[in-house]
Amino acid sequence: MKQLQKILQYIFPFKLLRKFSDKNLKTLYEEWDKPSRQIQISAISCLTALLYIAFVFIDKSSWVSEQVDMLMVKLYLLLIVPMMLTISFLAYKRKFYKFVMFALAVSPMIAMGCHAYIASRLSNYSPLLAEGYLCVLWIFIVSGMTFGYALVSAFFTSLILLFSAFYLMNHTGTYSMHVFWILCSFSFGLLGALIFDRSRKAVFMSQQELHRLAVTDSLTGVFNRNQLNNVLPGEVERSTRYKKPFGLLMIDIDHFKRINDALGHGAGDKVLQKTAEILSKLIRENDTLIRWGGEEFVLVILEVDKKSLIHLCENLRKKIEDENYGAAGKITVSIGATLFKENDFPDALLDRADKALYEAKEKGRNVVVYA
Ligand code: GH3
Ligand code: MG
Ligand code: MG
Repeated sequence: MKQLQKILQYIFPFKLLRKFSDKNLKTLYEEWDKPSRQIQISAISCLTALLYIAFVFIDKSSWVSEQVDMLMVKLYLLLIVPMMLTISFLAYKRKFYKFVMFALAVSPMIAMGCHAYIASRLSNYSPLLAEGYLCVLWIFIVSGMTFGYALVSAFFTSLILLFSAFYLMNHTGTYSMHVFWILCSFSFGLLGALIFDRSRKAVFMSQQELHRLAVTDSLTGVFNRNQLNNVLPGEVERSTRYKKPFGLLMIDIDHFKRINDALGHGAGDKVLQKTAEILSKLIRENDTLIRWGGEEFVLVILEVDKKSLIHLCENLRKKIEDENYGAAGKITVSIGATLFKENDFPDALLDRADKALYEAKEKGRNVVVYA
């Protein structure tokens, strides 16, 4: 029973899928998912085109008249092969992704339309039947379509196969076997696609978690210094392009060593956690708080001018000074602040904030210095 529950949870991972109802996560997943799909779609469409070309050159004289053979050559070489090659080519371009997905979903319906038309011209079309079943599996498992597109495409393709066979097969026994094989292809495909989809999402979620761990400071829960490498280059580029400067603060707890020495490292850790909590409450959602190391924090403040940056620094300094830290008593911080200037490098920015912080310490601590 437990085993069955496990299998069902694996195939229908409602917990995992509920997470994907979050729009941001869904967008992130789609961006993560696109490149591998682009390669898959491109390769598979190209292979499909090549196999259709090979099919055209197979000797079919024992079961196909010359006329129908010519019809096949025309439909496959002038319609299906160019369509698949176009999809294969466009799949490389990111801007055509949506169009490619749509074209990929429609292509099996077109192929099965041709299949039905050719079948209607044959007295015995059993050698062609396998194409229909393969096509349904191709949509779900092979093509590279996302699950939603594959489901819609396979549904309509199966309908085309069922309806065309209903009119073409007057022998009811054969027709029910045909329906059965379509059902087999559809259910195998659907289950396979569900499992693929689930595995892709699970890999994405574990990668997200690994990324989160790599940029998070385990003691305070704020970012660690790895995150600065993710944030700074982007902000420098944005500020240069839009001429909207951002601020960088270096915040250092004053005489922190004394707390460790007097009350132990546990108490020191609590002071660090509380300080991180106060700072994160005072900044905006788009600003970034980083534990730089030890008892030092770096803050990246977006879209700010000199006056409001200094105002914010004073506010932070005062809030920490006024806070009740319990046994640790009064805690103060010194702050070095700087603004991004044209042609600034990330290292130069950090260096200026660091020098300003040093100056703040020189001035007697619990002060803000702007450089
Ligand atoms: P200043 O006012 O000049 O900044 O003096 P300070 O004592 O704050 O600075 P100093 O660099 O002399 O000491 C920092 C101390 O922070 C030393 C180190 O043991 C302590 N520290 C670093 N990381 C941690 C941590 O994760 N937890 C605790 N409890 N202490 C830490
Ligand atoms: Mg200190
Ligand atoms: Mg320090």
